[in-house]
Amino acid sequence: MRRAGSITLLLLAACDRAPMPAMPSPPAVASLTPSSFLKGQLHLHSNNSGDSETPPNEVVQWYADHGYDFIVFTDHNRVTDLASRPGLLVIPGMEITLNVERCDPPGPSPLCPLHVNALFIDTAQAPAAVPEPADLRRTTVYGYGIARARSLGALAQINHPNFHWAADADTIAAVASEPLLLEVANEAIDSNNDGDTTHPSTFGIWDALLTAGVRVWGTATDDAHHYGDAARVRARGELAFEGDRGWVMVRAEPGANAEQLRDAMARGDFYASNGARLDDVRCDAAGLTIWPGRRDAEVRCIAGGRAAPATSTMPGEYVCARAPDPTAYVRAEIIEPQGRRAWAQPCWSH
Ligand SMILES: [Zn+2]
Ligand SMILES: [Zn+2]
Repeated sequence: MRRAGSITLLLLAACDRAPMPAMPSPPAVASLTPSSFLKGQLHLHSNNSGDSETPPNEVVQWYADHGYDFIVFTDHNRVTDLASRPGLLVIPGMEITLNVERCDPPGPSPLCPLHVNALFIDTAQAPAAVPEPADLRRTTVYGYGIARARSLGALAQINHPNFHWAADADTIAAVASEPLLLEVANEAIDSNNDGDTTHPSTFGIWDALLTAGVRVWGTATDDAHHYGDAARVRARGELAFEGDRGWVMVRAEPGANAEQLRDAMARGDFYASNGARLDDVRCDAAGLTIWPGRRDAEVRCIAGGRAAPATSTMPGEYVCARAPDPTAYVRAEIIEPQGRRAWAQPCWSH
């Protein structure tokens, strides 16, 4: 996120779960196949970005060592494309880094870092030409970023909306078309996810969009720039932007390919996390059913933009019921005792 540049450029049989006494399962649950989720990173930088000193092959090793199933390189305005290795799929991407000199409308910060990730770039496809933005309206610049990502055959993600208050809900609503990801939990240090007295949190932005009928999927990411060098960076008195702080868990079988992962993400078949784990999550006629990985986790429902209670009729299983309005969404936040969270994607009746 930091780089300056120019616009010109179920019952899941979880192995750590204690055995439960035998009891008949309700038919709807018994018919489900336990889910498998793959851990993925959608935002990371290497020395191809200019503001990281770590070579791409060392970044790959770092994420392999931290248990990831797939990673997407998102260097600033540059496609990094490395070979996958056994157990870790390495996917080309790019952070379309649009740092404009002024924004329209202007904001409280003199910086306008309007960044869009192009994820799962199709390197075999020649990108279609996309005209440069004709003006500095935030919507024009973001529209350009999204069009550019799609011209690369990629899935678009609006990055860190609260970093220098780059994007509010109105701006995102004006440029959104499906499928679109929104980085609600960029776990870098300066992303202002919680908002401030005059700006809503990134989750507030997400709920405003969903309430307005704009369907976007929420992601958690690292935006990492420092790896094996993090301690050295801190010793110099500088901030270290480290990895394995925010990620996505995509429903896919082990060994899934990039296309399968991309398709699952495009349809919202994943959850975001900064540490909390889910055994499973399902969206169906009842609403959203959640099976947290830990029995002491709290499940909070958000239905139609408002907090709503979760119900639980089976141990370890929680339901966030649909709002009566069939157009309204319900989503859920799962909080473990140490504060680590996971976020289920919004669920609709149609
Ligand atoms: Zn950025
Ligand atoms: Zn970044």
